[in-house]
Amino acid sequence: MGRKSLTNQHNQSGEFFVDTRCIGCGACTYVAPNIFVLYDSKAIVFQQPSHPDSIQDALIALHSCPVFSIGTHTLSTNVTLPCLIDDNVYFCGYNAESSFGASSYLIRRNQGNILVDSPRFDKRLVRILEEMGGLAYIYLTHQDDIADYKKFQKHFNAKVIFHRDDFNSKITQADITLEGEEEYVLDDEVRIIIQRGHTKGHTVLLYKNHFLFSGDHLAYNLNNETLYAFKDYCWFDWPTQLRSLERLNHYTFSHLLPAHGAPYESDANIMKEKLYHYLQGEKK
Ligand code: SF4
Repeated sequence: MGRKSLTNQHNQSGEFFVDTRCIGCGACTYVAPNIFVLYDSKAIVFQQPSHPDSIQDALIALHSCPVFSIGTHTLSTNVTLPCLIDDNVYFCGYNAESSFGASSYLIRRNQGNILVDSPRFDKRLVRILEEMGGLAYIYLTHQDDIADYKKFQKHFNAKVIFHRDDFNSKITQADITLEGEEEYVLDDEVRIIIQRGHTKGHTVLLYKNHFLFSGDHLAYNLNNETLYAFKDYCWFDWPTQLRSLERLNHYTFSHLLPAHGAPYESDANIMKEKLYHYLQGEKK
């Protein structure tokens, strides 16, 4: 919970505030873009929420802040997370500082729930996950966003899915180890596509040819409504990442759910066009 004594002086005054311990991860600005904005690399409240839905968004942002910088003066902070995005896909919240506030998601399925990238191991989240049927799989897109996956793995006896080329000192093995360039088909709804670039072993998960969980590979820019990739934060190889994105455009998806950045939903053809235009721009 944010500390009133450290309130950022640039907040619009009102019920919600952000304190100066903010690390500028941007998570709150993706969850509640009408309320929070980055100013001088730190989040501030630029517009206080007034409608019940936007108050709910602000509370979800509060519980997504990895360093507990967001607070309210009088409101109860109760909110139910994971919260539904669409179909049976949920946003988890409880983002972890160790993954610089990366978002994680839950796919709820009769065949076994899948956690996509790891949030922090918060007791409130764990209890709700138990009520929702636990976790059968923990799928990790790449080495940066693994956070507390080991605690979730142990608690739920879940199978971890991860690419061998991203093993490091923090993650040395998986239950399902992805290899080489071969895509992995879990069943007729879930396929994991190797998308090297940001890291050598980066992968993305395509669910029902509708939801793409893109990790740090592809994101959406709310300001200019374009798709883009993090060229300045490409740790392995940028030309490789661009080639991966070209291959990705052969797949169909209409929901983009990145680790860092705003979720984006659109017609699948528009999604393809946006990715095509981005890649054409990068070739110039
Ligand atoms: S989620 Fe927290 S740390 Fe991240 S930008 Fe918002 S206030 Fe700052």
